Amino acid sequence: MPSLDALKFADRYPFSKNAKALLREYAFSLDNVSPETLARAIHWVESALTSSKSDFFRREAERQRLNSSQVFESSLPAFALAKVFVSLLENPLYYDKLARLCADNTFSFLEAEPNKREIVLDFAGELGLDFELLGAHETGSGQWVARIPLSSYVRYPLSHPSLRLSSQRVEKGQVFVSEARMARLESEWVYAKVRESLPVNVEGIPLKYREIALEVLRRVSMGQRRALGLEGLGSVDPACFPPCMEKLFKELSEGKNLAHMARFDVACFMNEIGMPGGQIIQLYAKTPNFNEKVTRYHVEHLSGKRGRKKYSAPSCAKVREHGLCVANCPVKTPLQFYRNEREKKKQLESPEEKPETPGKEAFRPPVAKPLNKNATPNTYS
Ligand code: SF4
Repeated sequence: MPSLDALKFADRYPFSKNAKALLREYAFSLDNVSPETLARAIHWVESALTSSKSDFFRREAERQRLNSSQVFESSLPAFALAKVFVSLLENPLYYDKLARLCADNTFSFLEAEPNKREIVLDFAGELGLDFELLGAHETGSGQWVARIPLSSYVRYPLSHPSLRLSSQRVEKGQVFVSEARMARLESEWVYAKVRESLPVNVEGIPLKYREIALEVLRRVSMGQRRALGLEGLGSVDPACFPPCMEKLFKELSEGKNLAHMARFDVACFMNEIGMPGGQIIQLYAKTPNFNEKVTRYHVEHLSGKRGRKKYSAPSCAKVREHGLCVANCPVKTPLQFYRNEREKKKQLESPEEKPETPGKEAFRPPVAKPLNKNATPNTYS
């Protein structure tokens, strides 16, 4: 019988070896997923897709204060099920988002650990991160805890600004890291490993799980429409936006002041996917110095209502040139991304094209499919 502490640990770090060992011990099956597991898996996916991280972290931290083994036992497979859900949605962007949420959640918990050093060092070993503990005379009054060979440090892409090599102390091919920096590095490795493990094998997964995944996606999409004031706009689906446009959209809806080219690219994109001019204008309403007359003039100009020229949605090359590309999607234009996603979503929503599979199979923790042949063998369920 695992202790409450062990269960809580597995809940905080669902990708860890300890969590996986517990999952195996309990031998869960998709035939009898508990309501707690289902609710928690959905919470993972919804939070990942909406990128509402602060609320997620707060609720996760509150959850750790519960003192019931049963609560944690009954939802142990939630993260594995969340991986099944995003895999059923067949969208690499969602795989990224779930992996990112898991990574950031890991960092948030590592930061709050009372025995942070011990756990950070344990995880380094578990993740396969090479490091050497520093002797007392090398720690720079406690500032540094370990040195990491450069090749290990840069093994995975490091997106967090604090990890930039130019900001590190590097000597003789070794990067000196503090406890906090090491935790941040590990969270990036968690991202890479969880991402590599997606999509999981969903062959034989009962149809009802696909329906739940789609329902979550619909809810997220509706929420985004509401947040962006797009309710009632049948043809525009924010859930299908490419990452660059999604980011710019979010910033606009938060009232951020976007640079001219960013505003122009968003407006052209929205115009091309069929958003009426009035709605495009409304998107800018929260931005500083909003002037409806001027915005209307520009929107009508780019849509071809004024003047002879109609501006098309930008290509990825243009978006990149404007410094607004945030991913490496396998498309040439954000519009192509949007159309592909819409098409994929339509197919997913047509159950007749996805034959129902018997729901009696035992639930195996999903088998990872490495995305490329250079990926490290996945050990994360
Ligand atoms: S690759 Fe293209 S679609 Fe994807 S984020 Fe960059 S510009 Fe947008």
